[in-house]
Amino acid sequence: MEKVLNYIDGKWTEALGGEYFNVINPATGEVIAKAAKGGREDAKAAIKAAKREFYNNKNGWRRFSSVKRSEMLLKIADELEKRREEFAKTETADNGKPLREALGDVDDAVSYIRYYAGAIRMPSGASYEVNDGFGPMHSYTVKEPVGVCGLITPWNYPLLMGVQKIAPALAAGNTIVFKPSSETPLSTVKFFKILAEAGFPDGTVNLVMGGGSTVGSEIAESEDVDMVSFTGSTEVGQSIYRASAGNVKKIGLELGGKSPNVIFADTDLDGAVEWAMMGVFFNQGEVCSAGSRIIIEESIKDEFVKRLKERADKMTLGNGITNPDMGPLISESHMNKVLGFIEKAKEEGAKVVCGGYRYTENGCGKGYFVRPTILDNVSPDNTAVKNEIFGPVVTIQTFKTEEEAIEMANDTEFGLAGAVFTKDGARALRVVKEIRAGIMWINCYNPAYVEAPWGGYKKSGVGRELSFDGLEEYTETKQITINLQPGELGWYEKR
Ligand code: NAD
Repeated sequence: MEKVLNYIDGKWTEALGGEYFNVINPATGEVIAKAAKGGREDAKAAIKAAKREFYNNKNGWRRFSSVKRSEMLLKIADELEKRREEFAKTETADNGKPLREALGDVDDAVSYIRYYAGAIRMPSGASYEVNDGFGPMHSYTVKEPVGVCGLITPWNYPLLMGVQKIAPALAAGNTIVFKPSSETPLSTVKFFKILAEAGFPDGTVNLVMGGGSTVGSEIAESEDVDMVSFTGSTEVGQSIYRASAGNVKKIGLELGGKSPNVIFADTDLDGAVEWAMMGVFFNQGEVCSAGSRIIIEESIKDEFVKRLKERADKMTLGNGITNPDMGPLISESHMNKVLGFIEKAKEEGAKVVCGGYRYTENGCGKGYFVRPTILDNVSPDNTAVKNEIFGPVVTIQTFKTEEEAIEMANDTEFGLAGAVFTKDGARALRVVKEIRAGIMWINCYNPAYVEAPWGGYKKSGVGRELSFDGLEEYTETKQITINLQPGELGWYEKR
């Protein structure tokens, strides 16, 4: 059985407590690896190394030129690309997603690293001519790394969510302490093997696996961590926000969602069905931006639901390695949570159009499979409308007017994403402006690119990832003012 270790201060290390936790393939329920179970002391050791490296090493990573940092990142991307298949197979075994989706994740990860390798060589900062009574002055800003960055990720895109943080954090010159989800540490460990070979000074990159309430909390609470970037549930994000207040950390939070997919009657119906599938059933529906609330104009609802059901019923479920349409959910407990939401929604009046149960046929008996589920006849306060289910479950609500559609779309505590389907361009632009969310799509659902920013309004988060904005999150801005006439005196009296 493979045993994987933490990486702290340039060394692969057993957990200080000597314990391991099981890593399970959710398609089969089998234990596929044992991972070192770090605790608070392991996190402290990693933070200490990252702090020493950032603040005390005169030849440390942050003092590498941006050209050198960029070149190292490009080599890391090349190595990851070479091992594309191996990484994707690991991700599928650990997370359950179909292999082709895991391959797509590795491709995206490579692209993200290359983007930030380029972005760090772009001009940054600004320049200001000022003359407000102190004579001619010139101000300019420089971007500097924040310091020790604690990075904490979920299980739905293990490699990609990690790289989304690691690449910009390192590009900007920070040192990092990384904690992956205990459900899915394996692709991260492999990625750290590449980082370990890349030539970073010891203490620059640290990996600590273990529980959220131990390793995660230590990172959030530590006065020696300068920034936390977290992707995960809103509830945990809130606790990290509170814990970070101790030393007023810089913070990035990418949290949950309950995103509306608004479909008008004038849309191309087949296109809307296709994108709705992508919106809610891709990655088993375990997607933060999932279009899990379909809000559709009443006149086309029956036809739309009929077509969506036909597509959903045809979906094949199976072990991700065989490339089915959908893999298993991440764990038995998560599957039970999803099924529990469906049961409660039914008790509250929802009608199950399709799915709604655990799937055990075709070799799926030991895994955690749930059939793609459509719930109709839901009231606005139905459990399935209100809560992030994070599985292949979509609700159907109808509207008669544009105003009603917008009101329904905004009737949520979340504000991550959403979409509008219509052939009326002006209406599309009006509606996306009215919906309170950080990411909106018109006539498509879910495409994401490293070039464009990602992040939420309301309880979906703070800050942005991806794009140049994502790089700036890992920097501090320093403003510097120069007196252009140092020989001129008497300012004290004049003021
Ligand atoms: P989670 O919040 O349970 O866990 C996320 C990470 O936080 C894990 O590594 C976990 O161990 C750690 N953690 C748990 N408790 C902690 C604590 N008290 N202090 C510090 N760390 C702690 O989320 P999950 O179940 O792994 O992932 C699903 C959630 O992630 C969903 O809500 C989803 O919407 C969200 N998500 C958001 C985005 C986005 O871009 N907004 C992307 C992916 C996932």
